[in-house]
Amino acid sequence: MEQPHVAILPSPGLGHLNPLVEFARRLVTDHNFTVTFLVPTDVPPSQAEMSIFHSLPPESVDHIFLPPVNMDDLPKDSKFETFLTVAVNRSLPALRDVFRTMVSRRRLVSLVVDLFGTDAFDVAREFNVAAYIFYTSTAMVLSLFLHMPQLDETISGEYRDLTEPVRLPGCVPIPGKELFEPLQDRTNDAYKLVLHNAKRFRLADGIMLNSFRELEPSAIAALLKKDEPKPPIYPVGPLVNMKPRVKDAESSNVCLAWLDKQPRGSVLFVSFGSGGTHSPQQINEIALGLEMSGQRFLWVVRRPYDKKDDGATYFGRNEKPSFDFLPDGFLERTKEVGMVMHPWAPQAQILAHGSTAGFMTHCGWNSSLESVVNGVPVVAWPLYAEQKMNAIVLTQEMKVALRPKASENGIVKKEEIAKAVKSLIEGEEGKKLRNRIEELKEAAAKTLSPDGASTKALHDVVTKWKNQLGN
Ligand code: UDP
Repeated sequence: MEQPHVAILPSPGLGHLNPLVEFARRLVTDHNFTVTFLVPTDVPPSQAEMSIFHSLPPESVDHIFLPPVNMDDLPKDSKFETFLTVAVNRSLPALRDVFRTMVSRRRLVSLVVDLFGTDAFDVAREFNVAAYIFYTSTAMVLSLFLHMPQLDETISGEYRDLTEPVRLPGCVPIPGKELFEPLQDRTNDAYKLVLHNAKRFRLADGIMLNSFRELEPSAIAALLKKDEPKPPIYPVGPLVNMKPRVKDAESSNVCLAWLDKQPRGSVLFVSFGSGGTHSPQQINEIALGLEMSGQRFLWVVRRPYDKKDDGATYFGRNEKPSFDFLPDGFLERTKEVGMVMHPWAPQAQILAHGSTAGFMTHCGWNSSLESVVNGVPVVAWPLYAEQKMNAIVLTQEMKVALRPKASENGIVKKEEIAKAVKSLIEGEEGKKLRNRIEELKEAAAKTLSPDGASTKALHDVVTKWKNQLGN
Protein backbone atom coordinates (compact mmCIF):
# COMPACT_ATOMS: atom_id res chain seq x y z
CA MET A 1 0.00 0.00 0.00
CA GLU A 2 1.19 3.52 -0.73
CA GLN A 3 3.12 5.28 2.03
CA PRO A 4 1.41 7.98 4.16
CA HIS A 5 2.07 11.43 2.80
CA VAL A 6 2.53 14.79 4.54
CA ALA A 7 2.33 18.24 2.91
CA ILE A 8 4.57 20.87 4.49
CA LEU A 9 3.99 24.55 3.84
CA PRO A 10 6.95 26.65 5.01
CA SER A 11 6.55 30.40 5.00
CA PRO A 12 9.31 32.00 2.89
CA GLY A 13 12.79 32.14 4.43
CA LEU A 14 15.40 29.71 5.66
CA GLY A 15 14.81 29.98 9.39
CA HIS A 16 11.58 28.10 8.85
CA LEU A 17 12.76 25.85 6.10
CA ASN A 18 15.84 24.35 7.76
CA PRO A 19 14.11 22.64 10.70
CA LEU A 20 11.20 21.57 8.50
CA VAL A 21 13.66 19.90 6.17
CA GLU A 22 15.10 17.94 9.07
CA PHE A 23 11.56 17.11 10.20
CA ALA A 24 10.78 15.80 6.69
CA ARG A 25 13.94 13.73 6.71
CA ARG A 26 12.88 12.06 9.95
CA LEU A 27 9.39 11.33 8.65
CA VAL A 28 10.99 9.64 5.67
CA THR A 29 13.82 7.71 7.31
CA ASP A 30 12.25 6.79 10.66
CA HIS A 31 8.60 6.44 9.69
CA ASN A 32 8.54 5.56 6.01
CA PHE A 33 6.48 8.60 4.99
CA THR A 34 6.70 10.63 1.82
CA VAL A 35 6.61 14.42 1.92
CA THR A 36 5.84 17.30 -0.42
CA PHE A 37 6.97 20.84 0.36
CA LEU A 38 4.49 23.38 -0.97
CA VAL A 39 6.43 26.60 -1.04
CA PRO A 40 4.73 30.00 -1.28
CA THR A 41 6.87 32.52 -3.15
CA ASP A 42 6.78 36.23 -3.86
CA VAL A 43 9.96 36.29 -5.90
CA PRO A 44 11.64 33.35 -7.61
CA PRO A 45 13.12 31.03 -4.96
CA SER A 46 16.61 31.94 -3.79
CA GLN A 47 19.60 29.76 -4.59
CA ALA A 48 19.80 28.88 -0.91
CA GLU A 49 16.23 27.56 -0.94
CA MET A 50 16.78 25.67 -4.19
CA SER A 51 19.91 23.97 -2.97
CA ILE A 52 18.24 22.87 0.25
CA PHE A 53 15.50 21.15 -1.72
CA HIS A 54 18.03 19.58 -4.02
CA SER A 55 19.81 18.07 -1.02
CA LEU A 56 16.73 15.98 -0.19
CA PRO A 57 16.08 12.45 -1.50
CA PRO A 58 13.85 13.08 -4.57
CA GLU A 59 12.14 9.69 -4.38
CA SER A 60 10.60 10.52 -0.98
CA VAL A 61 10.62 14.33 -0.68
CA ASP A 62 9.11 16.37 -3.45
CA HIS A 63 8.75 20.15 -3.65
CA ILE A 64 6.40 22.43 -5.52
CA PHE A 65 6.94 26.18 -5.72
CA LEU A 66 3.49 27.75 -5.67
CA PRO A 67 3.12 30.48 -8.31
CA PRO A 68 4.67 33.77 -7.13
CA VAL A 69 2.13 36.07 -5.52
CA ASN A 70 2.16 39.78 -6.11
CA MET A 71 3.11 41.82 -3.06
CA ASP A 72 3.63 45.15 -4.81
CA ASP A 73 0.74 46.75 -2.96
CA LEU A 74 2.40 46.21 0.45
CA PRO A 75 4.24 49.25 1.80
CA LYS A 76 7.98 48.80 1.27
CA ASP A 77 8.64 49.20 4.99
CA SER A 78 6.28 46.36 5.92
CA LYS A 79 7.74 44.05 8.53
CA PHE A 80 8.76 40.61 7.36
CA GLU A 81 6.04 38.97 9.49
CA THR A 82 3.58 40.86 7.27
CA PHE A 83 5.27 39.62 4.09
CA LEU A 84 5.26 36.04 5.34
CA THR A 85 1.62 35.96 6.40
CA VAL A 86 0.40 37.74 3.27
CA ALA A 87 2.50 35.49 1.02
CA VAL A 88 0.85 32.43 2.58
CA ASN A 89 -2.62 33.96 2.41
CA ARG A 90 -2.33 34.91 -1.25
CA SER A 91 -1.07 31.43 -2.09
CA LEU A 92 -4.24 29.73 -0.81
CA PRO A 93 -5.94 29.41 -4.23
CA ALA A 94 -2.82 27.73 -5.63
CA LEU A 95 -2.60 25.55 -2.53
CA ARG A 96 -6.21 24.49 -3.02
CA ASP A 97 -5.45 23.45 -6.60
CA VAL A 98 -2.49 21.36 -5.49
CA PHE A 99 -4.55 19.76 -2.72
CA ARG A 100 -7.26 18.79 -5.17
CA THR A 101 -4.81 16.68 -7.12
CA MET A 102 -2.87 15.51 -4.13
CA VAL A 103 -5.78 14.08 -2.13
CA SER A 104 -6.92 12.05 -5.09
CA ARG A 105 -3.48 10.59 -5.71
CA ARG A 106 -1.80 10.32 -2.32
CA ARG A 107 -2.61 9.09 1.18
CA LEU A 108 -2.37 12.60 2.54
CA VAL A 109 -2.51 12.49 6.36
CA SER A 110 -1.58 16.01 7.38
CA LEU A 111 -0.74 19.54 6.38
CA VAL A 112 2.07 21.02 8.49
CA VAL A 113 2.61 24.78 8.58
CA ASP A 114 4.92 27.03 10.57
CA LEU A 115 3.93 29.94 12.79
CA PHE A 116 2.85 32.22 9.93
CA GLY A 117 0.92 29.64 7.93
CA THR A 118 -2.29 29.15 9.87
CA ASP A 119 -4.49 30.54 7.06
CA ALA A 120 -3.70 27.35 5.19
CA PHE A 121 -5.68 25.39 7.82
CA ASP A 122 -8.83 26.33 5.90
CA VAL A 123 -7.64 24.43 2.84
CA ALA A 124 -6.72 21.38 4.95
CA ARG A 125 -10.19 21.42 6.53
CA GLU A 126 -11.93 21.65 3.14
CA PHE A 127 -10.21 18.41 2.18
CA ASN A 128 -10.63 16.73 5.56
CA VAL A 129 -6.92 16.68 6.20
CA ALA A 130 -5.44 17.20 9.69
CA ALA A 131 -3.69 20.55 10.26
CA TYR A 132 -0.56 20.78 12.41
CA ILE A 133 1.91 23.50 13.30
CA PHE A 134 5.63 22.89 13.42
CA TYR A 135 6.70 25.64 15.81
CA THR A 136 10.22 26.76 14.94
CA SER A 137 10.95 28.70 18.12
CA THR A 138 11.05 28.26 21.89
CA ALA A 139 8.45 27.03 24.36
CA MET A 140 8.49 30.58 25.74
CA VAL A 141 7.49 32.11 22.40
CA LEU A 142 4.90 29.39 21.80
CA SER A 143 3.43 30.21 25.20
CA LEU A 144 3.34 33.87 24.15
CA PHE A 145 1.46 32.95 20.96
CA LEU A 146 -1.06 30.87 22.88
CA HIS A 147 -1.64 33.70 25.38
CA MET A 148 -1.50 36.55 22.90
CA PRO A 149 -5.26 36.91 22.40
CA GLN A 150 -5.71 37.21 26.17
CA LEU A 151 -2.79 39.66 26.53
CA ASP A 152 -4.22 41.71 23.68
CA GLU A 153 -7.48 42.07 25.59
CA THR A 154 -6.10 42.65 29.05
CA ILE A 155 -3.11 44.91 28.41
CA SER A 156 -3.65 48.34 26.97
CA GLY A 157 -0.96 50.56 25.51
CA GLU A 158 2.32 49.35 24.10
CA TYR A 159 4.23 46.46 25.68
CA ARG A 160 7.46 48.44 25.62
CA ASP A 161 5.90 50.91 28.09
CA LEU A 162 4.93 48.28 30.67
CA THR A 163 6.52 48.83 34.06
CA GLU A 164 6.10 45.18 35.06
CA PRO A 165 7.49 42.25 33.03
CA VAL A 166 5.11 39.97 31.16
CA ARG A 167 4.67 36.65 32.97
CA LEU A 168 3.90 33.51 31.01
CA PRO A 169 3.36 30.13 32.71
CA GLY A 170 6.69 28.50 33.60
CA CYS A 171 8.75 31.20 31.85
CA VAL A 172 11.34 33.69 33.04
CA PRO A 173 9.53 37.09 33.28
CA ILE A 174 9.98 39.09 30.07
CA PRO A 175 10.46 42.88 30.07
CA GLY A 176 7.84 44.36 27.70
CA LYS A 177 10.46 45.83 25.39
CA GLU A 178 12.08 42.41 24.91
CA LEU A 179 8.84 40.84 23.70
CA PHE A 180 8.44 39.55 20.12
CA GLU A 181 9.27 42.57 17.95
CA PRO A 182 6.07 42.80 15.84
CA LEU A 183 4.10 43.16 19.07
CA GLN A 184 5.87 46.41 19.86
CA ASP A 185 3.61 48.55 17.71
CA ARG A 186 -0.07 47.72 17.89
CA THR A 187 -0.92 49.99 14.98
CA ASN A 188 1.38 48.13 12.59
CA ASP A 189 -0.08 45.47 10.28
CA ALA A 190 2.49 43.00 11.54
CA TYR A 191 0.89 43.15 15.01
CA LYS A 192 -2.54 42.44 13.60
CA LEU A 193 -1.31 39.59 11.42
CA VAL A 194 0.69 37.94 14.19
CA LEU A 195 -2.35 38.18 16.46
CA HIS A 196 -4.46 36.73 13.66
CA ASN A 197 -2.13 33.72 13.39
CA ALA A 198 -1.93 33.39 17.18
CA LYS A 199 -5.74 33.25 17.47
CA ARG A 200 -5.79 30.45 14.93
CA PHE A 201 -3.22 28.36 16.83
CA ARG A 202 -6.05 26.83 18.83
CA LEU A 203 -7.55 25.44 15.61
CA ALA A 204 -4.53 23.20 15.06
CA ASP A 205 -4.91 19.46 15.60
CA GLY A 206 -1.49 19.51 17.24
CA ILE A 207 1.65 21.59 17.61
CA MET A 208 5.14 20.18 17.26
CA LEU A 209 7.67 22.26 19.14
CA ASN A 210 11.33 22.43 18.13
CA SER A 211 12.62 22.35 21.69
CA PHE A 212 13.07 19.77 24.44
CA ARG A 213 12.54 19.51 28.16
CA GLU A 214 16.11 20.06 29.33
CA LEU A 215 16.31 23.41 27.52
CA GLU A 216 13.18 24.94 29.02
CA PRO A 217 11.92 22.57 31.72
CA SER A 218 9.22 24.64 33.39
CA ALA A 219 7.96 26.37 30.23
CA ILE A 220 7.52 22.99 28.53
CA ALA A 221 5.91 21.46 31.64
CA ALA A 222 3.40 24.34 31.63
CA LEU A 223 2.63 23.84 27.93
CA LEU A 224 2.04 20.13 28.47
CA LYS A 225 -0.44 20.71 31.32
CA LYS A 226 -4.02 20.09 30.32
CA ASP A 227 -5.37 22.97 32.38
CA GLU A 228 -6.68 25.13 29.54
CA PRO A 229 -8.01 24.38 26.07
CA LYS A 230 -5.15 24.14 23.59
CA PRO A 231 -4.04 21.65 20.96
CA PRO A 232 -1.79 18.78 22.08
CA ILE A 233 1.84 19.89 22.11
CA TYR A 234 4.72 17.62 21.12
CA PRO A 235 8.28 18.71 21.95
CA VAL A 236 10.19 17.00 19.12
CA GLY A 237 13.42 19.05 19.06
CA PRO A 238 16.14 19.77 18.57
CA LEU A 239 15.68 19.19 14.83
CA VAL A 240 18.50 20.96 13.01
CA ASN A 241 19.59 20.56 9.44
CA MET A 242 23.27 19.63 9.70
CA LYS A 243 23.61 18.56 6.07
CA PRO A 244 25.69 20.88 3.88
CA ARG A 245 23.71 22.49 1.12
CA VAL A 246 24.79 21.49 -2.37
CA LYS A 247 25.67 25.03 -3.40
CA ASP A 248 27.69 25.62 -0.23
CA ALA A 249 30.46 23.39 -1.48
CA GLU A 250 32.83 26.14 -2.62
CA SER A 251 32.49 28.55 0.30
CA SER A 252 32.47 25.55 2.65
CA ASN A 253 35.79 24.44 1.30
CA VAL A 254 37.43 27.82 1.77
CA CYS A 255 36.25 28.54 5.28
CA LEU A 256 36.42 24.98 6.58
CA ALA A 257 39.99 24.76 5.21
CA TRP A 258 40.75 27.99 7.11
CA LEU A 259 39.24 26.51 10.28
CA ASP A 260 41.32 23.35 9.81
CA LYS A 261 44.44 25.50 10.17
CA GLN A 262 43.37 27.15 13.43
CA PRO A 263 44.14 25.70 16.86
CA ARG A 264 41.44 23.53 18.41
CA GLY A 265 38.80 25.45 20.33
CA SER A 266 40.14 28.92 19.44
CA VAL A 267 37.77 30.60 16.95
CA LEU A 268 34.72 32.78 17.55
CA PHE A 269 32.12 32.38 14.81
CA VAL A 270 30.19 35.60 14.23
CA SER A 271 26.95 35.52 12.29
CA PHE A 272 23.60 37.23 12.57
CA GLY A 273 21.38 34.79 10.72
CA SER A 274 19.98 34.81 7.23
CA GLY A 275 19.01 38.49 7.29
CA GLY A 276 20.60 40.21 10.30
CA THR A 277 22.57 43.38 9.84
CA HIS A 278 23.65 46.47 11.81
CA SER A 279 24.05 50.20 11.45
CA PRO A 280 27.35 51.42 9.96
CA GLN A 281 28.48 52.63 13.39
CA GLN A 282 27.71 49.28 14.99
CA ILE A 283 29.52 47.32 12.27
CA ASN A 284 32.52 49.52 12.94
CA GLU A 285 32.42 48.75 16.65
CA ILE A 286 32.05 45.02 16.00
CA ALA A 287 35.10 45.02 13.75
CA LEU A 288 37.20 47.01 16.24
CA GLY A 289 35.89 44.95 19.16
CA LEU A 290 36.84 41.68 17.48
CA GLU A 291 40.27 43.09 16.75
CA MET A 292 40.67 44.38 20.30
CA SER A 293 39.71 40.98 21.78
CA GLY A 294 42.83 39.44 20.25
CA GLN A 295 40.83 36.27 19.52
CA ARG A 296 40.52 34.40 16.26
CA PHE A 297 37.27 34.96 14.43
CA LEU A 298 35.26 33.91 11.41
CA TRP A 299 32.75 36.63 10.61
CA VAL A 300 29.87 36.47 8.16
CA VAL A 301 29.39 40.16 7.55
CA ARG A 302 26.58 41.93 5.73
CA ARG A 303 26.42 45.43 4.34
CA PRO A 304 25.16 47.80 7.07
CA TYR A 305 21.57 48.73 7.30
CA ASP A 306 20.93 52.21 6.02
CA LYS A 307 18.54 53.08 8.83
CA LYS A 308 19.66 54.04 12.31
CA ASP A 309 18.60 50.83 14.00
CA ASP A 310 19.81 47.28 13.73
CA GLY A 311 17.50 45.16 11.71
CA ALA A 312 17.03 42.67 9.00
CA THR A 313 17.37 42.80 5.29
CA TYR A 314 14.42 40.95 3.78
CA PHE A 315 16.17 37.55 3.78
CA GLY A 316 19.45 39.23 2.80
CA ARG A 317 18.62 38.82 -0.85
CA ASN A 318 20.42 40.25 -3.84
CA GLU A 319 23.30 41.77 -1.99
CA LYS A 320 26.55 42.49 -3.80
CA PRO A 321 29.70 41.17 -2.09
CA SER A 322 31.99 43.90 -0.82
CA PHE A 323 33.77 44.84 2.40
CA ASP A 324 34.27 48.54 1.70
CA PHE A 325 32.22 49.44 4.78
CA LEU A 326 34.68 47.86 7.23
CA PRO A 327 37.09 50.16 9.11
CA ASP A 328 40.20 51.22 7.20
CA GLY A 329 42.97 48.66 7.43
CA PHE A 330 40.86 46.20 9.44
CA LEU A 331 41.16 43.31 6.99
CA GLU A 332 44.93 43.77 6.64
CA ARG A 333 45.53 44.07 10.39
CA THR A 334 43.48 40.98 11.26
CA LYS A 335 44.38 38.72 8.35
CA GLU A 336 46.47 36.37 10.52
CA VAL A 337 43.64 35.74 12.99
CA GLY A 338 40.42 36.49 11.19
CA MET A 339 38.40 35.46 8.19
CA VAL A 340 35.56 37.54 6.84
CA MET A 341 32.89 36.07 4.61
CA HIS A 342 29.95 37.41 2.69
CA PRO A 343 27.01 36.90 2.73
CA TRP A 344 26.64 33.28 3.73
CA ALA A 345 28.61 30.55 5.49
CA PRO A 346 28.00 26.85 6.10
CA GLN A 347 27.00 27.58 9.67
CA ALA A 348 26.10 24.09 10.83
CA GLN A 349 29.46 22.73 9.66
CA ILE A 350 31.34 25.64 11.23
CA LEU A 351 29.66 25.07 14.58
CA ALA A 352 30.49 21.38 14.36
CA HIS A 353 34.17 22.11 13.62
CA GLY A 354 36.68 21.42 16.39
CA SER A 355 38.36 24.85 16.01
CA THR A 356 35.15 26.71 16.83
CA ALA A 357 35.01 27.80 20.47
CA GLY A 358 32.19 30.31 20.58
CA PHE A 359 29.33 31.78 18.60
CA MET A 360 28.28 35.41 18.47
CA THR A 361 24.72 35.08 17.21
CA HIS A 362 21.51 37.01 16.67
CA CYS A 363 19.84 34.21 18.69
CA GLY A 364 17.61 32.93 15.89
CA TRP A 365 16.24 29.70 17.31
CA ASN A 366 17.82 27.48 14.67
CA SER A 367 21.19 29.07 15.31
CA SER A 368 20.68 28.58 19.04
CA LEU A 369 19.80 24.90 18.59
CA GLU A 370 22.78 24.41 16.28
CA SER A 371 24.95 25.80 19.07
CA VAL A 372 23.41 23.38 21.55
CA VAL A 373 23.82 20.24 19.47
CA ASN A 374 27.45 21.18 18.85
CA GLY A 375 28.19 22.32 22.41
CA VAL A 376 29.29 25.86 21.43
CA PRO A 377 28.68 28.64 24.01
CA VAL A 378 27.21 31.92 22.90
CA VAL A 379 27.56 35.68 22.85
CA ALA A 380 23.89 36.65 22.54
CA TRP A 381 23.21 39.62 20.29
CA PRO A 382 19.51 39.62 19.44
CA LEU A 383 18.26 41.89 16.68
CA TYR A 384 14.63 41.43 15.66
CA ALA A 385 11.65 39.01 15.56
CA GLU A 386 11.58 36.92 18.78
CA GLN A 387 15.36 37.02 19.23
CA LYS A 388 15.35 39.09 22.42
CA MET A 389 13.14 36.47 24.04
CA ASN A 390 15.51 33.77 22.83
CA ALA A 391 18.41 35.70 24.35
CA ILE A 392 16.59 35.61 27.70
CA VAL A 393 16.19 31.85 27.37
CA LEU A 394 19.86 31.41 26.41
CA THR A 395 21.22 33.58 29.23
CA GLN A 396 18.76 33.11 32.10
CA GLU A 397 17.16 29.74 31.52
CA MET A 398 19.74 27.65 29.68
CA LYS A 399 22.71 29.63 31.08
CA VAL A 400 24.88 29.14 28.01
CA ALA A 401 25.33 32.74 26.89
CA LEU A 402 26.82 36.13 27.70
CA ARG A 403 24.94 39.21 26.58
CA PRO A 404 26.97 42.37 25.97
CA LYS A 405 25.31 45.60 27.05
CA ALA A 406 24.50 48.48 24.74
CA SER A 407 25.52 52.00 25.78
CA GLU A 408 22.94 54.73 26.15
CA ASN A 409 22.80 55.51 22.43
CA GLY A 410 22.00 51.85 21.73
CA ILE A 411 25.46 51.02 20.36
CA VAL A 412 27.46 48.16 21.86
CA LYS A 413 30.94 49.61 22.18
CA LYS A 414 34.13 47.89 21.03
CA GLU A 415 35.41 47.56 24.61
CA GLU A 416 32.23 45.75 25.67
CA ILE A 417 32.45 43.46 22.64
CA ALA A 418 36.13 42.70 23.25
CA LYS A 419 35.41 41.93 26.90
CA ALA A 420 32.56 39.52 26.06
CA VAL A 421 34.54 37.75 23.35
CA LYS A 422 37.64 37.33 25.52
CA SER A 423 35.60 36.13 28.42
CA LEU A 424 33.77 33.58 26.26
CA ILE A 425 36.82 32.16 24.52
CA GLU A 426 39.42 32.18 27.29
CA GLY A 427 37.81 33.36 30.54
CA GLU A 428 36.39 31.55 33.57
CA GLU A 429 32.86 32.59 32.63
CA GLY A 430 33.36 31.03 29.20
CA LYS A 431 34.47 27.79 30.82
CA LYS A 432 31.27 27.63 32.89
CA LEU A 433 29.09 28.31 29.87
CA ARG A 434 30.97 25.68 27.86
CA ASN A 435 30.47 23.05 30.55
CA ARG A 436 26.80 23.87 30.75
CA ILE A 437 26.25 23.70 26.99
CA GLU A 438 28.14 20.38 26.91
CA GLU A 439 25.52 19.03 29.33
CA LEU A 440 22.76 20.26 27.05
CA LYS A 441 24.52 18.76 24.03
CA GLU A 442 24.39 15.38 25.76
CA ALA A 443 20.75 15.91 26.68
CA ALA A 444 20.01 16.78 23.04
CA ALA A 445 21.62 13.57 21.81
CA LYS A 446 19.68 11.60 24.43
CA THR A 447 16.27 13.08 23.65
CA LEU A 448 16.79 12.24 19.97
CA SER A 449 18.02 8.69 20.65
CA PRO A 450 15.62 5.81 19.83
CA ASP A 451 14.23 5.81 23.39
CA GLY A 452 14.46 9.58 23.88
CA ALA A 453 11.52 11.85 24.73
CA SER A 454 11.60 13.81 21.45
CA THR A 455 11.72 10.62 19.38
CA LYS A 456 8.71 9.34 21.34
CA ALA A 457 6.84 12.62 20.88
CA LEU A 458 7.31 12.45 17.12
CA HIS A 459 6.30 8.80 17.19
CA ASP A 460 3.06 9.82 18.95
CA VAL A 461 2.22 12.32 16.21
CA VAL A 462 3.02 9.88 13.46
CA THR A 463 0.92 7.16 15.12
CA LYS A 464 -2.04 9.54 15.24
CA TRP A 465 -1.62 10.27 11.55
CA LYS A 466 -1.38 6.61 10.65
CA ASN A 467 -4.43 5.77 12.77
CA GLN A 468 -6.48 8.24 10.75
CA LEU A 469 -5.86 5.95 7.81
CA GLY A 470 -7.04 2.96 9.80
CA ASN A 471 -3.56 1.36 9.77
N1 UDP B 1 22.53 30.01 8.08
C1 UDP B 1 23.61 29.49 7.43
N2 UDP B 1 24.58 30.36 7.01
C2 UDP B 1 24.53 31.69 7.23
C3 UDP B 1 23.41 32.21 7.92
C4 UDP B 1 22.43 31.34 8.35
O1 UDP B 1 23.71 28.27 7.20
O2 UDP B 1 25.46 32.39 6.83
C5 UDP B 1 21.46 29.08 8.54
C6 UDP B 1 21.64 28.74 10.01
O3 UDP B 1 22.49 27.63 10.17
C7 UDP B 1 20.21 28.48 10.47
C8 UDP B 1 19.37 29.37 9.55
O4 UDP B 1 20.19 29.69 8.43
O5 UDP B 1 19.85 27.13 10.24
C9 UDP B 1 18.97 30.65 10.24
O6 UDP B 1 17.94 30.39 11.12
P1 UDP B 1 17.74 31.17 12.49
O7 UDP B 1 16.47 30.68 13.09
O8 UDP B 1 18.94 31.04 13.34
O9 UDP B 1 17.65 32.68 12.12
P2 UDP B 1 16.91 33.51 10.96
O10 UDP B 1 17.87 33.58 9.86
O11 UDP B 1 15.66 32.80 10.63
O12 UDP B 1 16.72 34.83 11.60
